[in-house]
Amino acid sequence: MSPVFNFSAGPAVLPREVLLEVQQELLDWHGSGMSVMEMSHRGKEFMQIAAEAEEDLRSVLGIPKHYKVLFLQGGATTQFAMVPMNLVRGRTSIDFVDTGHWSKLAVKEARKYCANTRLVTSSEASGYRDIPAFESWERDPNAAYLHYTSNETLGGVEFPYIPDSGDVPLVCDMSSNFLSRPVDISKFGLIYGGAQKNIGPAGLTLVIVREDLLGQTVPGTPTMMDYKIQADGDSMYNTPPTFAIYVAGLVFKWIQRQGGLKAIEQRNIEKAALLYETVDTSGGFYISPVEKAFRSRMNVPFRLADPALDEAFIKEAAARNLLQIKGHRSTGGMRASIYNAMPLEGVKALTGFMQEFARSHG
Ligand SMILES: *Cc1c(COP(=O)(O)O)cnc(C)c1O
Repeated sequence: MSPVFNFSAGPAVLPREVLLEVQQELLDWHGSGMSVMEMSHRGKEFMQIAAEAEEDLRSVLGIPKHYKVLFLQGGATTQFAMVPMNLVRGRTSIDFVDTGHWSKLAVKEARKYCANTRLVTSSEASGYRDIPAFESWERDPNAAYLHYTSNETLGGVEFPYIPDSGDVPLVCDMSSNFLSRPVDISKFGLIYGGAQKNIGPAGLTLVIVREDLLGQTVPGTPTMMDYKIQADGDSMYNTPPTFAIYVAGLVFKWIQRQGGLKAIEQRNIEKAALLYETVDTSGGFYISPVEKAFRSRMNVPFRLADPALDEAFIKEAAARNLLQIKGHRSTGGMRASIYNAMPLEGVKALTGFMQEFARSHG
């Protein structure tokens, strides 16, 4: 069978090397005679797996000591509620940057815990094609925190910088570009993301949070949703998603073997450049809806100028093992997600096909 290239937005492609390791260790992890799936989360084997996963993530991202790393469940969507429950801390407003689908959902959920959710800026009027200049944002210096989405997975809009929120804690939904480039963790109060885009299997949610923000939850916060309790219990207050943590740990080691986040970023830049260039030089056959400065390196939406060809495009792509490139149902068109684990050869196979399709249908 010739290789399949999977452009799904999530759950998404994982490094082949990692999947092979998982396969090899599936029945007998390191001579334990057990599968990781069968291990007690409090046994010495799994404790070692979890500790190494955290250690490796800390080293890959350069996470300072005064930040906690939590391995939780519930996806990024659960964080839309957990973040305000934990971080409102008696303040009366939260600042939000609205750059599309996911930031909108985060605002909607936060409103249940804080009546005054302010939009400091929104690109809705322009159809979420860009990000309004930072200088134009109307921020509240007393806000509980400033929330933004570093990469809008649906719209393909990515921040090329980290906003400077001053003394207001900066909170970021990094679900779809987590570990795609180096980031200065010290600029953030909290970062969260579902694992299934760029980290590992679905079922695991990562949170990195500055210690001093913990311990002031809103009344009625469920035990499982209290970051402080999760941090004090090393994310094992109850049974954690053990197998997903194990696979994520292997992905962190894979990133280290690739040369770390700097090397990963270089590859991501190269892959995205090739794909956008193919769109831009297609003579209008393919169209990118996003302003150049904010084009995502991870999720590349594009349309065919003639939508009547959409079906043929998807069908012919699938016949060449180029899978899951249909755009989100709300946007139509195509979307190629090219996360860390998508090799350059996959992007080359896609762009080669796109050029050929344009020639034969143009
Ligand atoms: C996928 C995604 C989510 C939702 O993640 P779940 O884990 O399904 O809850 C939230 N934000 C962003 C940016 C995403 O890409």
